[in-house]
Amino acid sequence: MNEIKKIAVLTSGGDSPGMNAAVRAVVRTGIYEGYEMVGSLRGYHGLISGDVVPLHSRSVSNIIQRGGTILKSARCKAFYEKEGRKKAYDKMQSMGIDALVVIGGDGTFTGAKEFGKEFGVPIVGLPGTIDNDLFGTDYTIGYDTAVNTVMEAVDKLRDTAYSHDRLFIIEVMGRDAGFIALRSGIATGAEMILVPESPTYIAELLYMLEKDWKKNKTSGIIIVAEGDDSGGAMKVEREINDHFPDYETRVSILGHIQRGGSPSAMDRVLASRLGNAAIMTLKEGVSGVMLGLIDNKIEMTSFEKSIKHHQYINLELLDIARVLAI
Ligand code: ATP
Repeated sequence: MNEIKKIAVLTSGGDSPGMNAAVRAVVRTGIYEGYEMVGSLRGYHGLISGDVVPLHSRSVSNIIQRGGTILKSARCKAFYEKEGRKKAYDKMQSMGIDALVVIGGDGTFTGAKEFGKEFGVPIVGLPGTIDNDLFGTDYTIGYDTAVNTVMEAVDKLRDTAYSHDRLFIIEVMGRDAGFIALRSGIATGAEMILVPESPTYIAELLYMLEKDWKKNKTSGIIIVAEGDDSGGAMKVEREINDHFPDYETRVSILGHIQRGGSPSAMDRVLASRLGNAAIMTLKEGVSGVMLGLIDNKIEMTSFEKSIKHHQYINLELLDIARVLAI
């Protein structure tokens, strides 16, 4: 590996709260360690088009508390092709950029893995997604904030559910993973939590409503992960209405409010630790890895592994949630 002098940081894929805190930590640690720091705007787009800005210590002032990403994020189609990646490499060469820190999800790391292999560019990745679905870390940057956002929304909906004796069916994000649903469901005392990792049988759901819930409760909350095999909150509501026409139900699909907002303390600290470690990892000459926090220790996982393996939810928590909802 050639000596690294100039490092670019970028955010790619969906934005998540805490990305800014990570950018700040990368930039300030980089400057502290004597590197020249720049930011590639709109993910890999910036590398291809040369849309790259210098980043100083003051460029990242006052951003630790802001959601989204000051570097903007985008999906960059050209980077899927070798030709696009070659353009990015040529541009990097012409701008004197020697290494990259990429913050994003598994797509971002797949691109980084290819790019590193093809052109020998040193790259370190940080897990930035609200979905928590990345192998190699207990928590991704943004997940805790998203769970807290859902929790606050559900608490508010529960006030109405209680006051009007209604059953609220609330759909939350997470793509094909149930992390947000499970954690927010436990935190809000949801009566039922439907996640993709555990098959949902409508008949069983109706049975539980009939036996356990209808007799004891007049209002309730069902949390449905967007990727659950029930087909989503609207479908679940239809099934319930078909079988229990006397229930008053409402659906709430929380949507993109879950992606934004000021990051929680946990996300800010996680992002700060990982951002700092990204620079130290490059300094040590290590590349092609995602950094994560496992049992409160910073650990490296190769891009290869982090992409290939899945992060599994703790299904025991589902059982606990059922017990606590009686
Ligand atoms: P999120 O979890 O929020 O979706 P992500 O990083 O998985 O984040 P993607 O849109 O899948 O989001 O990927 C981000 C970018 O990474 C893509 O727009 C593309 O530029 C690059 N990328 C993704 N997959 C590949 C691939 N197979 N080869 C090269 N580049 C890729």
